[in-house]
This record gives sequence, C-alpha cells and structure tokens, in this order.
Amino acid sequence: MSNIKVLLADSLVKFADKINHAADNYRYRPFVCSVCERPVKSYIPYNGWEMLIKHKTRLSIFSLETFNFPSYWCPNCKANDRDRLYALFLKELFSKIDSSKKYTFIDFAPETESLGFLIKSQPFLNYRSADLFMPNVDDTVDLQDMKIYGDNTVDFFVCSHMLEHVPDDRKAIRELYRILKPGGLGIAMVPIDLSLSEIFEDPTITDEDARWTHFGQNDHLRVYSKPGFIARLQEAGFKVEQKGVEYFGEQKFQKAGIYPRSILYVVSK
Ligand SMILES: [Zn+2]
Repeated sequence: MSNIKVLLADSLVKFADKINHAADNYRYRPFVCSVCERPVKSYIPYNGWEMLIKHKTRLSIFSLETFNFPSYWCPNCKANDRDRLYALFLKELFSKIDSSKKYTFIDFAPETESLGFLIKSQPFLNYRSADLFMPNVDDTVDLQDMKIYGDNTVDFFVCSHMLEHVPDDRKAIRELYRILKPGGLGIAMVPIDLSLSEIFEDPTITDEDARWTHFGQNDHLRVYSKPGFIARLQEAGFKVEQKGVEYFGEQKFQKAGIYPRSILYVVSK
C-alpha cells in the first residue's frame, strides 16, 4: 500500500512539474541558478516523500510558504529553492556594501556547499560557519547560549531551518538579537505552514516516529505559523521585513526556480 502511495506522490510531482514549467512562460528560459549562475534546463523535484507518507504526516507540503517541490534542487550545484532565494538577496546586498571594510558573517548550520562558497568567497567578509552538531564548522555553538560571540559583534547571519530543531527557540532568537550589531542584518527562515494560525508545538512528543507524524521530521520540535514566527522574532526586538516576488521581480524568481509565494524574512536591529 505504501508503495502505491509513493508512486502516486511521484506522479503528482511529475504532474506538478509539468504545470509549473508550463506556467513558467518560456520567455524567461533558460533558467539560471542564482547560486552557481549556470543555466538549468529543469530543476530537480523534491524526493523526500517516503518518510512523510509512511508516518502519515500532518504537515501539508502544499501549504508550506517557501517550498518549490517540483523544482527543488539545482542539477549543477544541488542548491535548493531557499538557497537560491538567499543568493538573490545576498548578491544584491554584497553589491551595495562598502567593500573596503570587513564584516563578520555567521552562517548557522550551512546546508549547501555551493551557497557557503558563494558567501565565503567575498573578500570583505570574515566568514564563520557555526553549529552545535555538525563536524568541520568554524564554531561549535548552541544557538540558545552563544557565549563565544559578544554583544553587537555580528554584521550578518543566516539562520535557516534551525529554530524548529531548538527546544527554546525564543531564547535562541534573543541570542541572535544580542549578537547582531545595530544596523546588521540576518536571514531568519523556518518551515512555515500557511494553513496554521498558531505555532503547533508539544514538548511531550519526543518519539521520532511521532515527530515525523506531527512535525514532518524526526528532529523537528514544532511547526511554525506565519503570524507566530513573526511574533517570536519581534518579541526579541527584531524588525522583520518580508521580501517576496514583488521585491525581487517575477523574472528573477522564475529563472531561479523559486515558487511565487516564497518569502524571505530579513531581520534587523
Ligand atoms: Zn546551481
């Protein structure tokens, strides 16, 4: 039965891919990945359905805010759609800043080598990768207690798809606020289910199978609603800006394979 479901999910992806590409109005082809800048004939669909189906997850991938499941991976550099969204923003940011100065950039739990390389290769950045569990990062640090970074010392950070793993996410957000310099910027992203009006979290759900069912992954501790996520960022003191297709433009989104309802959360102090 589960194999049939996987096959169905697979056909669904292929069908959605066709619709997606048909709707792409070929005028913007060839697609160009915003991370590696290489032409892309077709982005690769997301393929992690099996565990979601097996655990009858409550999370609907159809209501996630930033998730282009039919056009997920870049076939060249393996950047996913959110990496490509960050690259659009970061390239614009880097082109405008005073490159005669040095800036501290903390990349929390860097996911994709190609995006990390894009950031690291900027000569005006003092780049630090940071995580509690990943090997080979520059700084081993718990997001909830980042003593190694002083107050107001960080110019930029990317904190992407980390807060849903952290027991006390409010504390982690307060730490991000503390270390950021006034005038500094951060990209703060979590999986957001647009069908929720409030954050769904339950600390009594500790079993990995149950976490798959309720939160969509074995090590996720909550599912964010859009208003709930914004409220937690603001509670810590952050100003929150939402940048979507109106900001970047339809052509940039389509070329980079970013779904039109995707939103980049940029926080500042
Ligand atoms: Zn790429």
